[in-house]
Amino acid sequence: MKHDLIIIGGGIVGLATAYTLLQVRPGLKLLLLEKESRIAQHQTGNNSGVIHSGLYYKPGSLKAQNCIQGYQQLLAFCNQHNIEYEICGKIVVATDQEQVALLRSLHERGQQNGLKGIKPILAEALTDYEPHVAGLEGLWVPQTGIINYLDVAHTLARLIAEMGGEILLKKKVVDIKKATAGTTVVVTDQGTYETDLVVSCAGLYSDQVTKFTEPALDVRIVPFRGEYYQLKPEKEYLVKNLIYPVPDPSFPFLGVHFTRMIKGGVEAGPNAVLAFAKEGYKKYDINFRELFDTLCWPGFQKVAIKYWSKGLSEMYRSFSKHAFTRALQKLIPEINEDDLIVGGSGVRAQASSRDGGLLDDFYIVENQSGIHVCNAPSPAATSSLAIGKTISDLALARL
Ligand SMILES: Cc1cc2nc3c(=O)[nH]c(=O)nc-3n(C[C@H](O)[C@H](O)[C@H](O)COP(=O)(O)OP(=O)(O)OC[C@H]3O[C@@H](n4cnc5c(N)ncnc54)[C@H](O)[C@@H]3O)c2cc1C
Repeated sequence: MKHDLIIIGGGIVGLATAYTLLQVRPGLKLLLLEKESRIAQHQTGNNSGVIHSGLYYKPGSLKAQNCIQGYQQLLAFCNQHNIEYEICGKIVVATDQEQVALLRSLHERGQQNGLKGIKPILAEALTDYEPHVAGLEGLWVPQTGIINYLDVAHTLARLIAEMGGEILLKKKVVDIKKATAGTTVVVTDQGTYETDLVVSCAGLYSDQVTKFTEPALDVRIVPFRGEYYQLKPEKEYLVKNLIYPVPDPSFPFLGVHFTRMIKGGVEAGPNAVLAFAKEGYKKYDINFRELFDTLCWPGFQKVAIKYWSKGLSEMYRSFSKHAFTRALQKLIPEINEDDLIVGGSGVRAQASSRDGGLLDDFYIVENQSGIHVCNAPSPAATSSLAIGKTISDLALARL
């Protein structure tokens, strides 16, 4: 059977796209192919579970627009389908003078992005929000929330099936070819599927999948593992909600934070270290082919030369619980190594251009075969329904 459209990747972006498409055009012959035996096993199932407010992003950027729209759509979706979430707010804490200046510009940025109710917190008032925090100044962001994105993904999958979409698991896409009839053939490790249009949302493998039809693609995914600790249950009282450091503008994804989880427990992290395999969740997971590809990519080499000291200190923190704890103590001085137990990890798909840039915004490549999402960085889980709408508009214009 020929499909109208095939989506590659059963993470939250692929699922949100499929859901939006079927809502806008019921009856579409839509197939979603996922290589794992369950959906959402990678970035979507291993993230921090934060509903981001849109505070950080450059006003007018795709990231800012999608986050703000996606935030509203996500909450409406959760309300409609009884998905558990909580808007608990967060504080961002400056712990040195340099960060105080950055925090103030963050406040302005939040206002430019239309966030209501964000307000500065003086040092002596920080403990009104988080009794165990210390810092020079803070920022209260009431819109931030917590959720389990697996709940969202499973609900999306159920609705897709109810609307007549098909999801096939354990189907790894290994090639995409042009068929003689002007259609496209998607080749998996277990059979081929014909379609008018392909949409790929393959996360950590988005570069490889895009390259099937765009061999000259000038972007590669560099995998960065984020490792978490958990607070021991008897120390969870140290954190009420969410406590964040001020982000370094050059590395907004760095900086360990505390997150109360919607299903219970408090996580501390993540750090960001180069993963030696795209799905390398453990320190010693290694895929020589993938590591070789990363090390040979000129964009990665440029980043490594420029930021080697940052990279090394993240690596050091990965091996030294003491160093990880010291970073956390900047926010909560009374926390000790003994209060932390090893938690899970997630691997970020960080797109890197040949010239050494780390792509910060969404990046979509369109070609004859279809639409390929090459970069969907955080907060793509928060923004997933807005990203899904953008991709579905592009797809429907071609169907
Ligand atoms: C540590 C960490 C913390 C984060 N915290 C947050 C947060 O708190 N809030 C937030 O909004 N965002 C957060 N993010 C970002 C967010 O999780 C991701 O941006 C989002 O999940 C991306 O979704 P995706 O569908 O693009 O990718 P993924 O969830 O990775 O899904 C891609 C899917 O494609 C499949 N696939 C790949 N190759 C193939 C193939 N060849 N054939 C078939 N299937 C294939 C994979 O198996 C996978 O299921 C975080 C990310 C990480 C890693």
